[in-house]
Amino acid sequence: MNKQDVTFNFDNTYACELEGFYVPWKGEQAPAPSMVLFNDKLAQDLGLQTEKLKGDQGAEIFSGGIAPKGANPLAQAYAGHQFGGFSEQLGDGRALLLGEILDNDGHRVDLQLKGSGRTPFSRGGDGKAVLGPVLREYLMGEAMHALGVPTTRALAAVTTGEDVVRDGVKPGAVLARVASSHLRVGTFQFFAARKEWDKVRTLADYAIARHYPDLADANEEYLAFLSAVADRQASLVASWLHNGFVHGVMNTDNMTISGETIDYGPCAFVDTYDAKAVFSSIDHNGRYAFGNQPVIAQWNLARLAENLLPLIDGDDSENAIRLATNVINGFIGQYTEIWTKGMRAKIGLVSSENEDAALINDLFTAMDDQNVDYTLFFRRLADAAEGQDEELLALFNNSQEIKAWLPSWKDRLLRDPQAIAERARNMNTVNPIYIPRNHRVEEALQAAEAGDMAPFNALMNVLSDPFTKRDGLERYEGAAPDDFGPYQTFCGT
Ligand code: AMP
Ligand code: MG
Repeated sequence: MNKQDVTFNFDNTYACELEGFYVPWKGEQAPAPSMVLFNDKLAQDLGLQTEKLKGDQGAEIFSGGIAPKGANPLAQAYAGHQFGGFSEQLGDGRALLLGEILDNDGHRVDLQLKGSGRTPFSRGGDGKAVLGPVLREYLMGEAMHALGVPTTRALAAVTTGEDVVRDGVKPGAVLARVASSHLRVGTFQFFAARKEWDKVRTLADYAIARHYPDLADANEEYLAFLSAVADRQASLVASWLHNGFVHGVMNTDNMTISGETIDYGPCAFVDTYDAKAVFSSIDHNGRYAFGNQPVIAQWNLARLAENLLPLIDGDDSENAIRLATNVINGFIGQYTEIWTKGMRAKIGLVSSENEDAALINDLFTAMDDQNVDYTLFFRRLADAAEGQDEELLALFNNSQEIKAWLPSWKDRLLRDPQAIAERARNMNTVNPIYIPRNHRVEEALQAAEAGDMAPFNALMNVLSDPFTKRDGLERYEGAAPDDFGPYQTFCGT
């Protein structure tokens, strides 16, 4: 084993301030840790010692076997509603929080390992992760970041040298990820379910200080906190829908307090626009379907609201319920406003008129059941803004409805203060040309599992700049061919 001389700028508030909210723990020693991917750019932004970390020391640390100096490795407690059913105890069953790092600008991030072995929260699980899903989370998270969607980030992926049983034997792996924190709706649920209201308050105070410091002195601080989390979730889920992303497993333990996307398991991007799109093999009723995500976010926030009631008004529970209900009832309106604002930009508007919402709704009606590629549609719409409609129309099975929509859109553009070429350019800065197309993701993962990282690295490179069309990358633009078949995703990392 190498002598560890790498240092991190740790400052572990969770470990220090929230005793009783976790179990101090250690990662398992992997038999033969080996670095597969290291996110150099992110490591630099975090002020890490990249040269030391990209080699064997990094593999040792990120596989969990050795805790670096200053780390307080621990498994966090949380509960959660999974597909609507409550589990009083979930927790980090295969994850380990090493600690918090202050980056070059003083921003605080969690450094967490996923797949580093069993913990007291593992229940029946083995605490392990395997290479394919680790790489999938790496790729999806980094792609989302490049799209401008708030997300956890991937810092490194290592293989452990161990065989792990998952539908056959697979190479064991660990993902090192960073997040602005791993506080979840489910973290509150854990203590609220046990009626440990002091702890719920301590947690809320901690979350406010860490993510919403402006609220610390607000009137009705805890109500304002609920509102602020709802704001961030409204923006987050709107950005998912703008980009065609289906999270796939929006359980309350997979919803962050910070408003970042977390836990890329069975997620996928839609090719064709379909509000009912579901990819997860276990989402039989479409609870987490593409178009259902705003309603589910609201449902999850209602669970958070319930947990905060005694803090919102400890003396008058009716009043607490009334105040919290107002916030939750306002969510869909708030979401719709943010979504509409983003859709305006996607269809080339910088100005705003009341009738835009109807124009946008008509567009989605025209896209319904048309097998239209959601991503390509908006790129072709930029061409249409410059007068070229043919390729756009060719995306539709039957172009009758979209042909009726285009003139009303073009009328609207006449009242929007942008030059034609400028508008098309602006549209292409919010509408990606490259997304993680399901067939390309699978192709890259299959090659990686067979030992060839080249397709994965090529895809990562494409997705790192999703808005700029580049020559030679045509194969990454289009939807999966028909023979790719219906796409199914799975939960297990
Ligand atoms: P997830 O589906 O990733 O949101 O995880 C839900 C819960 O199952 C969390 O408490 C995880 O820690 C736990 N879990 C998932 N996979 C494993 C595993 N292989 N070993 C132990 N716990 C696991
Ligand atoms: Mg999870």
